[in-house]
Amino acid sequence: MNFDERFKRKSDLHMHSTYSDGQDSIELMIRTAAMNKMEEIAITDHLYDERFMNGKSVDEYFREIDDAADHYGQVKVLKGVEGTILDSDGGISIPTKAIEKFELVLVDFAWKAKGIAVDAPLCKTDLMKNISKAFKNLCANRHVDIIAHPFNFGRLIKNFSFDWLKESFLEEIAGYFIEGNKSFEIMNDQWWWFPELHPDVVTNEYARILNVFNSCGVKFTIGSDSHSHQGIGNRVYSDVLLDAMSKA
Ligand SMILES: [Zn+2]
Repeated sequence: MNFDERFKRKSDLHMHSTYSDGQDSIELMIRTAAMNKMEEIAITDHLYDERFMNGKSVDEYFREIDDAADHYGQVKVLKGVEGTILDSDGGISIPTKAIEKFELVLVDFAWKAKGIAVDAPLCKTDLMKNISKAFKNLCANRHVDIIAHPFNFGRLIKNFSFDWLKESFLEEIAGYFIEGNKSFEIMNDQWWWFPELHPDVVTNEYARILNVFNSCGVKFTIGSDSHSHQGIGNRVYSDVLLDAMSKA
């Protein structure tokens, strides 16, 4: 496995606080990370606009992170953000003038992705072209570090099937990751995006995807995508995926 060596071993690089849709304060998130003896975490609240969802600015966010990180000095805390892709041209929700300030930038595919999750073409070939183009443009963005929970299409694309993701298609996308030096997040809650599939199907299919990316030399990170302090460092399902990869 090629883990991204920019990050520490006991890390959790994806979590949300009350600055977006998380339940707990930044202070409680960082205190929990210190209690759990995490080596490194990133607070990665959603940013869809100039301000966070609680109305506070990026500078206020940084100040709260710095204050708590100083107080619980033993854990390294990255000032992160999670943006979302807006279209297959690679537009993202994080304002251009803010993006440079963050130490870690995650971008996901979610409900706003035009041409993929919204106004998707009826023709599957066109849809796959849009997906490929979106990955290509996203991976070309020098500000982006990690693609969050890639291929989380179960809830986003009507009638999505893992069969659509042929090996040649995955290799093409992996090439964009390598070219743009992007990391692939093995997100602990990945299965949540596929409510209609049997758990073993999700695990086996996702392990297949991970194996293709791994053999292409793409680097991985681990993230809980936790929305409360109790989930920090939770990698139980990420480890299920890693086990499934080695058995495939
Ligand atoms: Zn998230």
